Amino acid sequence: MPLKDECSLCGRVFPLYRLKRCQRCGRLYCRDCMTTDVRTGEPEALCLNCARRIVSPTKRWKYEPLKRYLQRRGYFTDHVALSFARIDGIIGDNLPMNAYKTQTWWNNSPSSAHARAWLEAGWRVEQVNLEKGTVTFIKTAKPPTTRREKRRFKPLEKPFKPAPVKPLRRRRVPSKTKLAKMYARLKNLERQRKSQLRGKFKPRPALEKRLFKPDKKPAATD
Ligand SMILES: [Zn+2]
Ligand SMILES: [Zn+2]
Repeated sequence: MPLKDECSLCGRVFPLYRLKRCQRCGRLYCRDCMTTDVRTGEPEALCLNCARRIVSPTKRWKYEPLKRYLQRRGYFTDHVALSFARIDGIIGDNLPMNAYKTQTWWNNSPSSAHARAWLEAGWRVEQVNLEKGTVTFIKTAKPPTTRREKRRFKPLEKPFKPAPVKPLRRRRVPSKTKLAKMYARLKNLERQRKSQLRGKFKPRPALEKRLFKPDKKPAATD
């Protein structure tokens, strides 16, 4: 039976030859969790966490995401079991070797920076299994309500008042100037139409003009 080990990030188990060692943190990872070292171009040289730390080194508190995660879970449950790999994923970094090797790293002592993450979130470590790489947290307190939440759940002080409905606008009476302009335009159009009509008629030949007087009614013939 070939030797097997699990990826330090995703936790899947592979035969040893499928796992590679990260050049930065020195732990074993599967190929999916390894990436190219952008500085050297060497493929599958770094684990994803180390690669991220190289690309964007941050100075924030490493365990802040774990604190926020536990706070969030605290709204729904009072018992959370996490694998070390899962915590790596939450904090976007690798837990130190001591977390894997020593039970004391998981002590609920407020003086240690990492323990503050769960203590401040209102949790404490109930049980650690170094062999399996799991830790169980138990909720100790109600999660503190953040300022944002206070704002969100602010009760309504005033009764609901609908926005005032605008009265329908009265039709404005056009000014005299406007009326005069409209009237002139109308007259112009009329004149134009008439002149077009007139243009269509053929002028009467001179002879016809002489014979036919339009004003005069033709005399009735008996
Ligand atoms: Zn993996
Ligand atoms: Zn690494």
